[in-house]
Amino acid sequence: MSLLRPRASVPETTSTRELDALIVGAGFSGMYLLHRLRGLGLAARVYERGEDVGGTWYWNRYPGARCDIESVDYSYSFSPELEQEWEWSERYAAQPEILRYAGHVADRFDLRRDIQFGAQVLSAEFDEAAGRWHVRTDLGELIVARYVVLATGCLSAGNVPDLPGRDAFRGETYHTGDWPHDGVDFAGKRVGVLGTGSSAIQSIPLIAEQAAHTVVFQRTPNFSLPAHNRPLTPEFRAEVKRDYPRRREIARYNSGGVTRADPEIGALEVTDEERREIYERQWRAGGLNFASLFNDLRTDRAANETAAEFIRGKIREIVEDARTAELLSPKDYPFGAKRPCVDTGYYATFNREDVQLVDLRTEPIAEITPHGVRTAAAEYEVDCLVYATGFDAMTGAVNAIDIRGRGGESLREAWAAGPRTYLGVGCAGFPNLFLIATVGSPSVLSNMMTSIEQHVDWVADCIGRLRAEGFDTIEATEEAQNEWVAHVNELAAGTLFLDAASWYLGANIPGKPRVFMPYVGGVGVYRELCDRIAAEGYRGFRRTVSAVAA
Ligand code: FAD
Ligand code: NAP
Repeated sequence: MSLLRPRASVPETTSTRELDALIVGAGFSGMYLLHRLRGLGLAARVYERGEDVGGTWYWNRYPGARCDIESVDYSYSFSPELEQEWEWSERYAAQPEILRYAGHVADRFDLRRDIQFGAQVLSAEFDEAAGRWHVRTDLGELIVARYVVLATGCLSAGNVPDLPGRDAFRGETYHTGDWPHDGVDFAGKRVGVLGTGSSAIQSIPLIAEQAAHTVVFQRTPNFSLPAHNRPLTPEFRAEVKRDYPRRREIARYNSGGVTRADPEIGALEVTDEERREIYERQWRAGGLNFASLFNDLRTDRAANETAAEFIRGKIREIVEDARTAELLSPKDYPFGAKRPCVDTGYYATFNREDVQLVDLRTEPIAEITPHGVRTAAAEYEVDCLVYATGFDAMTGAVNAIDIRGRGGESLREAWAAGPRTYLGVGCAGFPNLFLIATVGSPSVLSNMMTSIEQHVDWVADCIGRLRAEGFDTIEATEEAQNEWVAHVNELAAGTLFLDAASWYLGANIPGKPRVFMPYVGGVGVYRELCDRIAAEGYRGFRRTVSAVAA
């Protein structure tokens, strides 16, 4: 497995290049950013450790990988021509199709000529005297750039838990976030899947169909909603294309960055019968909209419990074995406090004779043995182990780079007690360094495409204005950053998000500080705030001309 890890040392410099802007990462964020910065006339270049564009969709090739925001919305809106020419085949496109889309965008906007593939950025150091970043890659390249943008992804640094005996396993080992490009044949094999998050829930039904025997190791059950995925009809696609301007406008200003109105009513404001009918209707329609049926599901435990219990009821209906149904039913955290999953046949998979659920709460893993997994109760022999164990989310890929700002200050150290940003785009002490759609912004709580475009546009406009107005640097003030961090925490504290040990909080990684990382205020509110701050001359940022504060 070649999951992103900090490298011990930077290799000797073999070449040097000067740029206006260096972008780390060629996922949807980095690709659009390159397009925008080129449009401003900047010499911009992307550095990507993978061998092609697509980011998430380049790495996560496990069986069943697909989006869970509807494809027609999980797509770029910046080019009406692109919107019109691309045809999504399914309600939730599968990974190969989304990767083809990324490739199409790269071709259409001729992006690859300014992307260095197979290059991992290891360090970035700010030279205060020159006002330039010195960035080094594992290929031995030194790049001197005025601006650095971290488009490194929220879910791009894989988490492989450090279980005793992990490396002694003699069978095949996979991580869903670094899946072999030519696929894996599980036919006739005994497969162990570790984890029951979205990646596991998408892949387990397909792995189980192939494998001789599948053992699912579950630490925490998840709430999963049916996808009811289906092919899109030509009529539907044509209608969406006609309606795109309106759809996108709704997505830009609602809370989740998707094409639906925000709910106006609470779950406890309707009768039990009405509520049940609303839940039933949405269950039949499928998808994540279930989480937004009522406006109090994120804030009121009693309201939330109505949704949680409805889903538990569905699990009991689908899963034939009562004990298995109980184990699969989340009971000790609110629905939505961990990212809900969207599945095709997940719960029904446990009705198969050849699928076994191991509850790690009653029998924790003691060690990985050469032949499988030994828990406190038994040894489960398997030929393949699939780590569906997620990511060092949001901060993992940023902290993997040794970033040094003013006075040699380390970003990793500045973030030791949790990430600190102003507005999710800048960090005090790190001039001309931008983050895209990650900590401190709606990012993972939204349709990421909407949030990525919003951030990229804001950052590109900001750089454009710096240049037009003759500023050399921009940097968040310590005061504005403190206020923003406090605001993000305060908003989260008013929700049920803090009641689950989620990756939003860093709770999936031993030793990681528990800080709620995304901004829960919603996409539309956040966009308006960002726009206002820009209109007020980048309030909370300090812009300088040759080291003189403006
Ligand atoms: P990424 O796509 O993660 O791209 C970041 C890139 O940066 C990667 O290619 C990585 O290799 C590169 N990189 C990182 N560090 C370095 C370095 N030091 N040097 C060089 N390169 C580096 N979001 C949704 O809104 N809807 C969905 O349905 C959805 N489904 C998802 C399914 C899966 C399986 C996963 C894992 C995530 C999903 N997401 C979804 C979130 C998804 O990550 C975003 O939607 C989006 O693709 C992120 O794009 P990005 O460009 O910001 O980051
Ligand atoms: P995840 O949600 O973090 O799930 C990881 C799973 O591994 C959890 O069940 C976790 O258990 C388990 N785990 C981790 N460490 C463990 C350990 N030491 N021992 C036992 N179990 C362990 O990761 P993911 O499934 O890859 O999904 C991450 C995010 O990516 C999603 O939340 C979503 O945002 C996105 N995603 C989206 C889709 C989609 O449908 N479009 C698909 C995949 C991913 P605990 O819960 O107990 O920690």
